[in-house]
Amino acid sequence: MTDGFATRAIHAGQAFDPTTGAIIPPVYLTSTFVQDGIGGLRGGYEYGRSGNPTRDALQAQLAALEGGIRALSFASGLAAEDALLRAALAPGDHVVLGNDAYGGTHRLIDRVHGKWGVRLTTVDLADTDAVREALRTPSTRLLWVETPSNPLMKISDVALLAELAHEAGALAVVDNTFASPALQQPLALGADLVVHSTTKYLGGHSDVIGGAVVVGAGHEELGEAIAFQQFAVGAVSAPLDAFLTTRGIKTLEVRMRRHSANAQAVAEALVGRPGVERVYYPGLPEHPGHELAARQMSGFGGMLSVALAGGEAAARRFAESTRVFQLAESLGGVESLIGYPSEMTHASVKGTPLAVPENVVRLSVGIESVDDLVADVEQALQATLAGA
Ligand SMILES: *Cc1c(COP(=O)(O)O)cnc(C)c1O
Repeated sequence: MTDGFATRAIHAGQAFDPTTGAIIPPVYLTSTFVQDGIGGLRGGYEYGRSGNPTRDALQAQLAALEGGIRALSFASGLAAEDALLRAALAPGDHVVLGNDAYGGTHRLIDRVHGKWGVRLTTVDLADTDAVREALRTPSTRLLWVETPSNPLMKISDVALLAELAHEAGALAVVDNTFASPALQQPLALGADLVVHSTTKYLGGHSDVIGGAVVVGAGHEELGEAIAFQQFAVGAVSAPLDAFLTTRGIKTLEVRMRRHSANAQAVAEALVGRPGVERVYYPGLPEHPGHELAARQMSGFGGMLSVALAGGEAAARRFAESTRVFQLAESLGGVESLIGYPSEMTHASVKGTPLAVPENVVRLSVGIESVDDLVADVEQALQATLAGA
């Protein structure tokens, strides 16, 4: 029998130190490893870029959480994505990306890999015909899915999209950053690879930047190729970063449950209120992806966006009026954050098909006392209306 999710989160890769019995494995702050004669490695460790026990512990934990055959951790989410793209693609290859993806993913494929001949098509992942059509482009290697999407919380059908990718001879990659493996298991739904910005919910405490690729069953060779990129390019996670991420992951399940409950309460407090045009949260029954999310996820997560009726000025005022929600980029930490995507997280896609409406603010709902969060968005809405 496989251990339950929370048991894996706490124990996978986390065996106690055999020398001292320390229940938490030591953090191996070392760049190199002494050899017992030339080539006499202890536990296979040679040099910190090629391998470090603290990084291995995190990688084992991540693979166990997503049900993958292995995981590779990196210095950032984008470094993880870059390693995956380098390993999977050659010049001339084509990638299909959801048109509501993280702006940095679009920028990486378009402006970095584009220079080396990788071609990119963005498509509405809810439009099955458009996805099929885009996948028919010769040399399509990857279908890149992000669900829930950022910042409009579109829900995409991972099982269906993986099937379409496979029919076209492509691999399905899911960016599982927003849901986290506590709420969504893309590999079990048929995806081939999962990527994460571990900076967000996995780390969970806004104190570390990191990323990971998790490799699904049957992709040993691609896993090797990504591991080679990690070693040869060198954007590895540092030992202390790996340790902080591992520590965060141990409480992932309870945090995600609380993030979801708090976000649901904040969404319900905002919906239908004067000054609010629309609330984007998959936990609301009127959200177009609600039923699919209820099927595909075990909770609706901590992210939501709000379109203000008063346009750009109202959105800016709202984002600058909250007190508990602090104005900052990023998401997924225990503390609540608010952002103005079109100028902050999504500035790089302004004027592209991925541009975010200017009346939208994005909330990363933390795990503070729910009454304080609801009161904060209510006072910010009052301030917004008063300033109109
Ligand atoms: C933040 C983020 C990334 C990029 O990760 P970094 O750790 O900032 O490099 C990728 N995808 C999503 C969905 C993100 O939110």
